[in-house]
Amino acid sequence: MTAFPAHADVVFVGAGHNALVAAAYLLDAGRSVCLFEQMPRPGGWVQTAELGAPGFLHDRWSALHPAFVGGPVWAELGPDLERHGLEYVTAPLATASSLPGGRTAIVPVDPRSFAEELDRLGERAGWDAATAEAFADRVLAEAEAHVPGLSGLVLERHLTTPADLAAQSPNAGPGDHGAGENSLQQALTQRPIPAHRGGHRTLLPGAWLIGAATWPGPAVSGASGRAVARALIAAA
Ligand SMILES: Cc1cc2nc3c(=O)[nH]c(=O)nc-3n(C[C@H](O)[C@H](O)[C@H](O)COP(=O)(O)OP(=O)(O)OC[C@H]3O[C@@H](n4cnc5c(N)ncnc54)[C@H](O)[C@@H]3O)c2cc1C
Repeated sequence: MTAFPAHADVVFVGAGHNALVAAAYLLDAGRSVCLFEQMPRPGGWVQTAELGAPGFLHDRWSALHPAFVGGPVWAELGPDLERHGLEYVTAPLATASSLPGGRTAIVPVDPRSFAEELDRLGERAGWDAATAEAFADRVLAEAEAHVPGLSGLVLERHLTTPADLAAQSPNAGPGDHGAGENSLQQALTQRPIPAHRGGHRTLLPGAWLIGAATWPGPAVSGASGRAVARALIAAA
């Protein structure tokens, strides 16, 4: 029979990772907590388990946690969690993809190795008009395999390469349409740099950051504009 505490400042029904995170902050702030969980283990959809072969650990449900390890919770609680045994293991080879002509692209996590892989595949040669046309032909041929007759329906096509984007606006950097690198270090609250933690205010009085390079990142949402406007209105 489980013994329940006579008193707790906060009671959680369910011990998914959000409840565990909240409990950790509350405990750090001197509150007492009690978590009720109906599964055999806490964590909800975040579980690492041996599912078959001994010694082989799997992410049983959710597997990609960039919003967690790239966000403020990991920055604040990570060292304690690691001290208690949590370790994020990242495979050096993240994924692979089949390419036409029997080629295979391997995508390493390490950017330098990734660049070497792109060189090996000849995919870093730069985007001139001929490369863009050949790429578009390839995409259309792939689509044609699933939608027969598609090519015959194309009236005209306009190709925009990463180089074209970069020429249009400095926000497109070296052809990056997301106002920043599509990497963990640039995910969500890590924009524009991790130390900024998703904030829009800068150290310069009156100067704020806004746009896709800041929280919450790319996509047409107007969200960073709204956040900064609200903060400025509230400060007035
Ligand atoms: C198969 C799968 C794959 C996913 N993959 C990803 C991924 O790769 N990346 C990603 O970011 N997200 C992924 N998600 C989503 C993500 O895992 C969940 O959004 C997140 O884990 C939810 O966390 P939570 O703390 O809000 O609640 P949950 O993880 O849902 O935990 C809630 C807990 O409450 C318990 N509970 C509920 N009711 C009661 C009750 N009445 N009494 C006691 N206990 C109760 C449950 O047993 C559970 O343990 C995935 C989800 C699933 C299901």
